[in-house]
Amino acid sequence: MCLDNKFAAGQLTYTIIGGDASPKKAVVEALNEWASNVNGLQFTEVSDKNSADITLNFQNGGSGGGGHNQVNGLGSVRGSGHTDIVGETILHGSNGLISSAQITIATAAFGSSFGTPLVKQIAMHEIGHALGIGHANFKGDIMAPAINYEKVAISSCDVNAVSSANQWKLANSGTAPQAPHLDHVNC
Ligand SMILES: [Zn+2]
Repeated sequence: MCLDNKFAAGQLTYTIIGGDASPKKAVVEALNEWASNVNGLQFTEVSDKNSADITLNFQNGGSGGGGHNQVNGLGSVRGSGHTDIVGETILHGSNGLISSAQITIATAAFGSSFGTPLVKQIAMHEIGHALGIGHANFKGDIMAPAINYEKVAISSCDVNAVSSANQWKLANSGTAPQAPHLDHVNC
């Protein structure tokens, strides 16, 4: 999946709903990590959630079992999403093109609050989904499905995946959105 023509202007808008200062700061840092790693990617904050490409909000999560559930709706994007144990990304759009994404990030689970580094990690992972990429099938990557409690950076592999998913814009500087040609990248 890739982002649709909202991406044509070269930047994406976001809004953060609710949250204390510390998780908000973590989310902004997560957005900055992606923007500084992916050439041509910029985020601008807007106050109107209806016009934002990406909305981010917070909740207490992880009250259920330890299971991980990923729902990947390639092909029919509407209502599709990724549900992680401490985060969720719902993608709206059609024909493999994402028009907007709603991200929910847990700031606490199993009775304990998450520190800023962990909220940032969860945000980086969910923003990756919002940028059109799925899970890495190996450990130690920010897009691995399990939480990694160590500091994990965005890898060149993740950058390649985002660039590949959004090739029409990031590689070809196009104005007409096209669904990605590849459904995965090798790392
Ligand atoms: Zn995920």
